[in-house]
Amino acid sequence: MNDLNPTLQPVFDEILARNPGENEFHQATRELLDSLAPVVARHPEYTDAAIIRRVCEPERQIIFRVPWVDDAGQVQLNRGFRVEFNSALGPYKGGLRFHPSVYLGIVKFLGFEQIFKNALTGMPIGGGKGGSDFDPKGRSDAEVMRFCQSFMTELYRHIGEYTDVPAGDIGVGGREIGYLFGQYKRITNRYESGVLTGKGLGWGGSLVRTEATGYGTVYFAQEILRARGQSLEGRTVIVSGSGNVAIYAAQKATALGATVVACSDSGGYVVDEKGLDLELLKDVKEVRRERLTAYADARESAHHVAGGSVWDVPCDIALPCATQNELDKSHALALVRNGCTVVAEGANMPCTPDAVQVFAKAGVAFAPGKAANAGGVATSALEMQQNASRDSWSFAHTEQRLEEIMIGIHARCLETADAYGSPGNYVDGANIAGFVQVADAMLALGVI
Ligand code: GLU
Repeated sequence: MNDLNPTLQPVFDEILARNPGENEFHQATRELLDSLAPVVARHPEYTDAAIIRRVCEPERQIIFRVPWVDDAGQVQLNRGFRVEFNSALGPYKGGLRFHPSVYLGIVKFLGFEQIFKNALTGMPIGGGKGGSDFDPKGRSDAEVMRFCQSFMTELYRHIGEYTDVPAGDIGVGGREIGYLFGQYKRITNRYESGVLTGKGLGWGGSLVRTEATGYGTVYFAQEILRARGQSLEGRTVIVSGSGNVAIYAAQKATALGATVVACSDSGGYVVDEKGLDLELLKDVKEVRRERLTAYADARESAHHVAGGSVWDVPCDIALPCATQNELDKSHALALVRNGCTVVAEGANMPCTPDAVQVFAKAGVAFAPGKAANAGGVATSALEMQQNASRDSWSFAHTEQRLEEIMIGIHARCLETADAYGSPGNYVDGANIAGFVQVADAMLALGVI
């Protein structure tokens, strides 16, 4: 890792001292600061107004007890979080993650990234994130419902369509958003559609929201290829994960002519040389909620590898769509060795800083999550627009808006990288473009 410049080093030292033990938050802030040297040189007004120090400190952090009763009648206890990070551009916006690994450091890294991602979409949304260390795996629908009701019984007082608008993330999909919205409606006696996004299509949701993060990531990869005079046609793609983001990234890549030969879950990965059968994958993962071994059992062209690394499978394009720090230096070296030329992050911060350095050295085009996976939250903002105007748009119209937004983010990253002296660098482009937009708004709004 390079040294930070004399303006930024004390900012990072302060972050380390004020937020002990929050490794993922340190990593995410460091990744941003690493891009900001040319920005502080050009904009002394940001330093004068302590903009960087302020943007690294959440506006509000809420931590709460979530007790609930399981099917056996036992009282269970979890911890709930909502970090309302920055509202310079609009109401806090960002997902909820239900996963046993969730603690304050994860929620803060996600909330921090969300600020700049949301700025890049060009939509009027601030950044926030929340979640719980609740593990939905193996829980019945009734247990998930009772957990969601208890979680919302505290969260409802902090959110609202002009305040804070949660959505899904890992472990929170349509089922959970339904239970959360139901409890919000019951407690407040208000049918306030704009309070949550990712809602069901029959009750205020938006077409394309389910597909949006995965589709958007592939649109971004397509723009990277287009800028190099190439396309997805005939390319071999790997996705990691097998959740919502991975499935729809695979679907769009396939539709654009690529062959998606592998995906993974926490038990291992499947290789399917004929290309993933997406209907089967959806059935296994979304309907039956089973492991990937069930996919391999049902498909002759596929085999399952227990454990191991999906990044050992040769590909042209890699789309890490599982979780933070899933792709490290050794995985990056394997990808480079096998001829991979494009990596676009569908998940949040899936590549470690070492891995990103390997890609940079090898000339692999690397798109960070805050740019490449912004299609999900952008479509959440489109859902908010539809709710505010009591309208619902067609699939084709919504998808076209999503594609335009992703093309716009790609162009803005490249233009900004150029303007700040690192041409072709999507990491610097995304960090600087997102940061400058938020910083200018914070300057205009005064010391608040
Ligand atoms: N959790 C998603 C993300 O990481 C979506 C957030 C949203 O739609 O508000 O961007």
